[in-house]
Amino acid sequence: MTYDSNNVFARILRGEIPATIVAQNEHALAFRDINPQAPVHVLVIPRGAYVSYDDFAANAADAEIIGFNRLAAEVARSEGLSLAHGGSGFRAIANAGPHGMQEVPHFHLHLLAGRPMGRMVS
Ligand code: 5GP
Repeated sequence: MTYDSNNVFARILRGEIPATIVAQNEHALAFRDINPQAPVHVLVIPRGAYVSYDDFAANAADAEIIGFNRLAAEVARSEGLSLAHGGSGFRAIANAGPHGMQEVPHFHLHLLAGRPMGRMVS
């Protein structure tokens, strides 16, 4: 799958589409999902052009992978979710490809929280 530089998250990164930004660093951006599936629903994306989780994990530089994960942890903490700081936890999901039901072809991590998520059945 080749990267489509006009996908909606690439456009958010370029500032062409507005987003409610929660946190950012040199390597990643976190913003609220436009159609939240839980009281807290934040998307964390790398600034680099990676289609999917496996593309990112295989091809991103170590600094990008670290920066991305540090930003996700920062969001968990700032949203009051971090177990290490008294929060009730969260679900982190990355959908990949057609069977993963990925809609936007720029790698993103969903952070979902604010209610019990239920068991994953499919
Ligand atoms: P996926 O199915 O690709 O894992 O999830 C894509 C997510 O992106 C969905 O939860 C959807 O609501 C969210 N989304 C799609 N377009 C936009 C947008 O323009 N802005 C924001 N903030 N979220 C979006």
